[in-house]
Amino acid sequence: MKCSRCGIGMGEEDAYELEGERVCEDCFLDAQMPQHPCDPLAQSVADRFGRISPDELLEEQREVYEFIKERGKVTPAEILNRFGMREGDLRQIFIVLRRLKLVKGQKIDGEICYVPYEYQGQGGE
Ligand SMILES: [Zn+2]
Repeated sequence: MKCSRCGIGMGEEDAYELEGERVCEDCFLDAQMPQHPCDPLAQSVADRFGRISPDELLEEQREVYEFIKERGKVTPAEILNRFGMREGDLRQIFIVLRRLKLVKGQKIDGEICYVPYEYQGQGGE
């Protein structure tokens, strides 16, 4: 199955219920974790990820990020083909990049694509 927010593939057991949608852990955490300065846990998670800059990404994470930036938008399948990685690997990378607010999932022409986080194209929410 796929996350109804970012469209990433996930196992049934990894799905979370969010406002009637079945979403991945990342989208779930994302929704649970808007900026709550008075919530120490949420804040420490945000701080931990907030301190990482693109320069400090793992080689593989950085390459995927560069690929998405370069193309503007790519489908998960294109990334899997380009890097020859498994969907599970891409999911882990995407979660990190998503939490760093470097990339996001976006539905474009009915197809889920990964785009730079600042992407302001059609189909915005
Ligand atoms: Zn998701």
